[in-house]
Amino acid sequence: MLKLIIFGPPSAGKGTQAQRLSKDYGLPQVSTGDLLRDAVAKQTPLGVKIKSYLDTGKLGPDDLIVQLIKERVSKPDCSNGYLLDGFPRTMGQAVELDRMTAIDLVLNIVVDHESLVERAVGRRICRKCNAVYHVKFNQSKTAGVCDKCGGELIQRDDDKEQTVRNRLKVYQDQTAPLIEHFRKKGNIVDVDGSKGIEEVYSQMTRAIKALKK
Ligand SMILES: [Zn+2]
Repeated sequence: MLKLIIFGPPSAGKGTQAQRLSKDYGLPQVSTGDLLRDAVAKQTPLGVKIKSYLDTGKLGPDDLIVQLIKERVSKPDCSNGYLLDGFPRTMGQAVELDRMTAIDLVLNIVVDHESLVERAVGRRICRKCNAVYHVKFNQSKTAGVCDKCGGELIQRDDDKEQTVRNRLKVYQDQTAPLIEHFRKKGNIVDVDGSKGIEEVYSQMTRAIKALKK
């Protein structure tokens, strides 16, 4: 049984790493965002309640979110463990989680915010085929033009500097107390997210191996 949590700022590659961990260790990836969308789409009793919150633009209260997670991790496919992604997000949720179960390891991807800003702000997307470029790290042959289809390369609103900075600030404010909480419990490992995908992944698998000893 292996119960993991993964934390990481937006655009730090958390999604990619989580998918790979999930596959290699056979752990279902339990993401609050997916569960919320799913419950709402299927109109489960919980989903109906949650929808009324989402409609007002608010995130559901902690007890609803925790209920959702509890239902998910009690399914048979989670009998060997699971990987929590996007949960807990508040101290209330973290406290509820402690009541529910003992987490083996929290993987905390740490990346300098300026480098995340640079990565995001330089990103360009082809308007036609969605190919991804970067003005510094992955340039197209002709500036502003897609190599594959000749389409126009644009910057998504999501990648505008102020938006990126705001998102990082929200993440920082939200997770700082949570990181502190797990730090006190002693089950968190910081992973240097400035490294390449492979190196980040092997830092994670090393941490998991150390756990099993
Ligand atoms: Zn294109």
